[in-house]
Amino acid sequence: MAELFYEDDADLSIIQGRKVAVIGYGSQGHAHALSLRDSGVDVRVGLLEGSKSRAKAEEAGLRVTDPSTAAAEADVIMILVPDPIQADVYTESIAPNLKAGDALFFGHGLNIRFGFITPPADVDVCMVAPKGPGHLVRRQYEEGRGVPAIVAVEQDATGKAFDLALSYAKGIGATKAGVIKTTFTEETETDLFGEQAVLCGGTAALVKAGFETLVEAGYQPEIAYFECLHELKLIVDLMYEGGLEKMRWSISETAEWGDYVTGPRIITADTKAEMKKVLAEIQDGTFANTWIAEYKAGLPKYNEYKTADSEHLLETTGKKLRKLMSWVDEEA
Ligand code: NDP
Ligand code: MG
Ligand code: MG
Repeated sequence: MAELFYEDDADLSIIQGRKVAVIGYGSQGHAHALSLRDSGVDVRVGLLEGSKSRAKAEEAGLRVTDPSTAAAEADVIMILVPDPIQADVYTESIAPNLKAGDALFFGHGLNIRFGFITPPADVDVCMVAPKGPGHLVRRQYEEGRGVPAIVAVEQDATGKAFDLALSYAKGIGATKAGVIKTTFTEETETDLFGEQAVLCGGTAALVKAGFETLVEAGYQPEIAYFECLHELKLIVDLMYEGGLEKMRWSISETAEWGDYVTGPRIITADTKAEMKKVLAEIQDGTFANTWIAEYKAGLPKYNEYKTADSEHLLETTGKKLRKLMSWVDEEA
């Protein structure tokens, strides 16, 4: 059984006694910086001159400096810039400012797991990875709740790294929801696999293929949109609340029968074999290296895929329909 930690297991005074630098102020960065500050922690945000996020952080009342100054002032440095540039930011701004006993924190383990960043042996290396998007992490904190997080220690130079990481997790509200102990390897590999094979990649491909099948057979795109995309949320909400069992309890027996007999014809043994290949490419670093090379080349393929999908009939149909739905909502 996984090890779980809650409010009483974490001591907020540990992180309150440290100086924290949050490098980056995007989805996760803003949530961590603001919630730590509201938890009574001494926080500064590290951003480059001319960064788009700078004004936002300053308007929120945070102190902003350049990443090197932030790293030099702090003894806990949380790196929340995009994964493909973390190694550059680390080399330029953080590594020269690390002192023995400092702690280097991550929100995702990719750069440590695949060796793009190798911290010195005398600093703690920890991860606090909320299992939800940054804007939800912040909203839940403001509402007195939290998004669950997973916490890991890669290097325990001080002998107190885990308690520090738990304390940080408490500072962003995560121990209200529950914190699970993991390793950098497990977090990185399962996070990448989950988002590629199931949550984002798998789901988007499933929705698109279903939508195209109906439209190519002559059905109206609006009807196909409702069947293959809109209703997905209602089904996933039921799974989230009570697993497959609750979803099956709520749907019709006809839908449930179709679920049993047709699901395995769509996600076949071949699909699972391909999933295993995807996982192997994640584990051996192929995926991480390809992605970082694409990012450094200026994202040519990424932008091509993005444009193609934004022009897909599924998306143009959805845009029109969602406007209609918000109008219906306003009238209600
Ligand atoms: P975002 O892309 O939302 O934010 C990136 C931030 O970094 C921006 O403020 C950006 O500034 C800043 N930035 C970019 N380049 C530099 C630089 N050279 N020096 C300093 N700051 C810079 O990132 P995310 O929050 O999505 O991701 C951060 C980390 O959190 C990643 O490790 C990710 O895997 C992890 N994570 C993210 C989740 C999420 O909800 N998105 C969920 C769980 C983990 P500017 O405004 O100028 O571009
Ligand atoms: Mg991820
Ligand atoms: Mg239906």
